Amino acid sequence: MDDTPIGRAAQLAVEALGRAGQGLPRPEQTRVMVVANQKGGVGKTTTTVNLAASLALHGARVLVIDLDPQGNASTALGVDHHAEVPSVYDVLVEAKPLAEVVQPVPDVEGLFCAPATIDLAGAEIELVSLVARESRLKRAIDAYEQPLDYIFIDCPPSLGLLTVNAMVAGNEVLIPIQCEYYALEGLGQLLHNVDLVRGHLNPRLHVSTILLTMYDGRTRLASQVADEVRGHFGAEVLRTSIPRSVRISEAPSYGQTVLTYDPGSSGSLSYLEAAREMALRGMPRQGEAHHERHDGGAQ
Ligand code: ATP
Ligand code: MG
Repeated sequence: MDDTPIGRAAQLAVEALGRAGQGLPRPEQTRVMVVANQKGGVGKTTTTVNLAASLALHGARVLVIDLDPQGNASTALGVDHHAEVPSVYDVLVEAKPLAEVVQPVPDVEGLFCAPATIDLAGAEIELVSLVARESRLKRAIDAYEQPLDYIFIDCPPSLGLLTVNAMVAGNEVLIPIQCEYYALEGLGQLLHNVDLVRGHLNPRLHVSTILLTMYDGRTRLASQVADEVRGHFGAEVLRTSIPRSVRISEAPSYGQTVLTYDPGSSGSLSYLEAAREMALRGMPRQGEAHHERHDGGAQ
């Protein structure tokens, strides 16, 4: 599968977990994950690209849709997104087919990206006057014919029309929470928006996954915040949390995920483990997968 040095190294990381042979169950239907938190800098993009790469390295077919005008997910995946590149802007505003903007991610087989360009900054306003302004991304995804196991939508740090488009298109909301003092502030508003979209536009939408990021186990604050989040949400919180790691933060400047940049690092292994947990949980109605997760969870 991987004939590049980076691809081979990443494959070694998957094997380092000792579970590569087992593979991961592939969902029956495409799981569309909305990665959202209107708080900035909590790890949305980092989580999007590294979970997506982890699942692709396990053989899944994965598409990342970069819905943030900053284009950070496109950068981190090494995908070209200068102003002339066909992008998510064209899909949302010009109704260009998604297939015409999707690019393969270098070095990770099975991983694809619909890039964001700076035009997307204007889309929030331009969408207001367009028909079906909340469901343009959903239409584009429904018309996309390539088979996919997962779609991750990396949202901007706001609750505007771009994020609403993601929530209308998705089934599951994945909320990364940074383990710091103000972690839970603003979360009520995010959950309220999820309820509104579920009530009016997309009855399937639910918060399925919460991931603790930038966790520093040496500080009492981080473990207090983690306890509080687990107390609040319980079952949705992945048992794996992502440690603060220099390697994770360095990878994007090389246009790489941490999986290919430093496959054996703690950051890489924790994202692989979080991806595994997410895949084994499956959709909530897959009760068996849930059961298996508990039995097989001892490490
Ligand atoms: P925005 O709201 O601007 O889109 P975001 O929620 O997408 O931000 P990221 O860009 O993923 O957040 O992360 C914010 C910063 O924190 C980045 O510089 C990133 O490299 C760094 N970072 C994310 N996760 C970790 C981690 N586990 N360890 C160390 N640094 C991290
Ligand atoms: Mg981001």
